[in-house]
Amino acid sequence: MSEIREIKGKDSSQYDQLLDKMFNNVESPKSLIVDLPSRSKFYNSVEEVVVSPLTFEEEERILNSKGKGNDIINLILSNCVKGVSIPELLQIDKLFLLLKVREASYGAVYKFNLGCPACGDEIKTEIDIAKDLNVNYVTDDFEDPRSLDLPKLGVEASVRFPRNKEEGFFKDSGTLAKNLYRFVVSLDGHTDPVFISKAIKRMHIVDVKTIANEVTKGEFGLDPRFMFECPSCGHNAMMEIPLDAAFFSVT
Ligand SMILES: [Zn+2]
Repeated sequence: MSEIREIKGKDSSQYDQLLDKMFNNVESPKSLIVDLPSRSKFYNSVEEVVVSPLTFEEEERILNSKGKGNDIINLILSNCVKGVSIPELLQIDKLFLLLKVREASYGAVYKFNLGCPACGDEIKTEIDIAKDLNVNYVTDDFEDPRSLDLPKLGVEASVRFPRNKEEGFFKDSGTLAKNLYRFVVSLDGHTDPVFISKAIKRMHIVDVKTIANEVTKGEFGLDPRFMFECPSCGHNAMMEIPLDAAFFSVT
């Protein structure tokens, strides 16, 4: 019978040293310090906003989620963004932050296939999300809430941005129309929401649209559009970056 050999257990510090040596040259994902499109003007906290990379576990959750898009997106933001309250987040900052989460996790270059709207060819496309998309920041004098004149009714309304926790009220234009009164702080000096709600129901469509445009304020934030030129047929089109599950994975 041969002699049974003795092996020595290694303590974990030895593993750490070996692992550190092995991973020394790998570029690890880094957190990003970001300037929000709202310039954090309308949040209580004035902390630095830091975006950290997605963990493997979070990526798995995204890939396995179907039909629960908003919950997952808010979960990602809660886990990866520090320095701003996610329930209080403004829409103009939300898309921007999602792109930053991706940038922190996988780098700024995003590769995807785009179907040409003219010839239908699937075109391999890549975009540098840190450089190729425009971010529109609010100006110094921009306020929330802010006043505007209703052109038909001829009175002043004060409106505010919706917060992320209120996103159920503006998930589509029909829902927003029913809930528009929630984002009107005052109307001709009246602040009673019941009064405001009843008034909006009687308003001319031009006035309703004036309020809705001010509430959603689409010109601020990250602009997801870019110009696409099809290499197959030469067609030029304005396209939007596809924000599907693939956006939050490495492939
Ligand atoms: Zn084409």
